[in-house]
Amino acid sequence: MMVEAGEPTWRGKQLAEAIYRQRVEGLSEITTLPKSLRQRLTAVGWEVGRPKIAQVFKSVDGTERYLVQGQDEDGLTVETVWMPEGDGGEAGDGSGIEAEWAGETGSRSRATICVSSQVGCAVNCRFCLTAKLGLQRSLSAGEIAGQVVSVLERHGVEVGRERVNLVFMGMGEPFLNYDNFMAAVRLLVEEVGLSPQRMTVSTSGIVPGIERFAGEPAEVRPKLAISLNAPNDEVRGEVMPINRKWPIAAVIEAARKVRLRSRERITFEYVLLGGVTDQLEHAAEVARLVRRTGLPAKVNLIAWNPGPGIEYTMPQAEAVERFRAALGAEGIAVYLRRPRGRDIFAACGQLKRTVEG
Ligand code: SF4
Repeated sequence: MMVEAGEPTWRGKQLAEAIYRQRVEGLSEITTLPKSLRQRLTAVGWEVGRPKIAQVFKSVDGTERYLVQGQDEDGLTVETVWMPEGDGGEAGDGSGIEAEWAGETGSRSRATICVSSQVGCAVNCRFCLTAKLGLQRSLSAGEIAGQVVSVLERHGVEVGRERVNLVFMGMGEPFLNYDNFMAAVRLLVEEVGLSPQRMTVSTSGIVPGIERFAGEPAEVRPKLAISLNAPNDEVRGEVMPINRKWPIAAVIEAARKVRLRSRERITFEYVLLGGVTDQLEHAAEVARLVRRTGLPAKVNLIAWNPGPGIEYTMPQAEAVERFRAALGAEGIAVYLRRPRGRDIFAACGQLKRTVEG
């Protein structure tokens, strides 16, 4: 854009630096650019800034849920979540969480930001509140990366000095907004300075998206999580109708094409629905399924979080523990994600733009 405005390319670098590193809120703040240039750009309608956090919901557990304003006139907001101590599921780089489970602490500074990729979602997973919105629109790369920049600024995070993990697990299916999602990742890596190894993208199993993702260079490729949520195609087809288009075997075949870094693992996310996916026989089936893939993998269990108008029931605490123990006994690396911000509807599957209950 700077070149188009008749300026040298290094002016573009200065602009990017101001937006993504200094996190400025307006052109007038970019003192590295001459005042005359700032005035000229303002006169032709340039605007610079980051998405506005329009509303904040604070949970008793420290989690914060934000309604973040998009750049369009449509007034739509997306949800972004800040978890000061993560949720026990994603350490981003694969470390830390194991240490925590081993009883070691000291991993306080591993906040996680959960980022949205679309307003609403078209995938229609039956347990998910966001699905009820339908797809309203996809976010631009700037809107996706901008959520992160706004939240980093709110918490005064110094990138490079503090550990921050990103999970692209908010509203939307990132692989149905692939180009903008990956452009956002490149901005976050190249301009903001975050490591792709501390980022995890979760997909409901969009096979063409996974195949494209497998072709991304390691320098900008986040880690992959697959939202499995059921032990077999029959149950998965009920819980996630998308499974009828891309069944489990097709998803795994695509995931196999991702060239994993050393020590990297693929995550299988598994939502435990009371009586539907949380039985012991399901655990045995999941263990067989994960083993059969032959992939370095871990399973993240999530006890389903209730939402208005959704007919499932929460799993009993004993069922959750039994399930975890059964997978562990089968030699599967398994983690239980702590529900974060359940009281403010910030937990998994609860993101919906309206203020509920
Ligand atoms: S779980 Fe994710 S992919 Fe499924 S409907 Fe909800 S937001 Fe969309």
